[in-house]
Amino acid sequence: MDVIDLSEGQPHFDTPEPIKKAVKDAVDAGVVYYIESRGLPQLLEEIKSKLEKENGIDVETAQLMVTVGAKEAVATAILCTINPGDEVLIPDPYWGTHAALVSLAGGTPKSVPIHDEDGFRIDTTEMQGLVTSKTKMIILNSPHNPTGMVLPKEDLEVIADICKKKNILAMSDEIYEKMVYDGIRHYSIGSFPGMEDLTITINSLSKSYAMTGWRLGYVAANKEIMNKMLIVHQHSVTHPAAFVEVAAITALRECDKYVKEMVAYYRTARDYFVPELNKTSFFRCNPPKGAFYVFPRIRDESISSSRMSDLLLEKARVLVVPGSGFGSHGEGFVRFVYAKPMSILKQIIQRIKDSGS
Ligand code: PMP
Repeated sequence: MDVIDLSEGQPHFDTPEPIKKAVKDAVDAGVVYYIESRGLPQLLEEIKSKLEKENGIDVETAQLMVTVGAKEAVATAILCTINPGDEVLIPDPYWGTHAALVSLAGGTPKSVPIHDEDGFRIDTTEMQGLVTSKTKMIILNSPHNPTGMVLPKEDLEVIADICKKKNILAMSDEIYEKMVYDGIRHYSIGSFPGMEDLTITINSLSKSYAMTGWRLGYVAANKEIMNKMLIVHQHSVTHPAAFVEVAAITALRECDKYVKEMVAYYRTARDYFVPELNKTSFFRCNPPKGAFYVFPRIRDESISSSRMSDLLLEKARVLVVPGSGFGSHGEGFVRFVYAKPMSILKQIIQRIKDSGS
């Protein structure tokens, strides 16, 4: 069937040419053997200076590790910090892997509900009220998958205060950091005073550089946590592909202009797609401030998110993820990805309209 697949959150762009050239050159130059498990020293230096310049996070390279995508970083960070009985606060709806890994580690994910009426912002008072003596970590993901919410600085400041007062870790998954619109800024909680040792900052080249299949991420943490993470990393994956690490240096050093072009396109795509979606009789949403997702509410409350996803597939041949796949507070919504060429976005809208909206 001719289905438009929006189930995967990934750019439709090709990886920028200099990165592809760098990987080919690295393979030709024989970078095909084991390297340092923590990461290539030049890449670690590049990440260190990126974190300092762009995020205001000062770390030594001994606090860094290059990972197989952000996913390995998330998994390793949670497995090394969460013990059975620990509670972890997660804004809900959430990206499923965060909560799944907390459960896998024997911890208890605790939802902090976020709502579309206030742009899916975290109610920090409610979050504060959910803290118990067992709370070990707060998971942050801004810009946010699936809602596109971007955490404002003032909310991050309150969250940082909660962490400091109660000695709670913040795991900050910042893989969509470059995709922010409307003049909004991304802030890293790890740069806030007193949060240096309490934050695990996670990032990846997957989304920003259109490199989802390359599997290259990285993580910064205090040395105590990092030393544990390094053990899991060494005994599980050793390191990401050596030649991919070489290409990552080129990405970080030379490819910002490609990222900016892609992000400019995502903004244009959002500005077309979201108002059009609102014009259909099915959905209602505010423009998301970041990432490349839109998480509209289903207007007809009698239709569940999985029923709506089925209807979209059957009648419009558009595959989306039902909101129920993003935690209990995702019910009543579906997730669209607008990182698609304009011609496809137009087709999606046309198909939804033709399906009877
Ligand atoms: N974190 C979030 C919030 C994501 O949405 C994703 C991908 N969907 C990841 C991490 C995984 O990224 P990577 O490809 O770098 O493993």
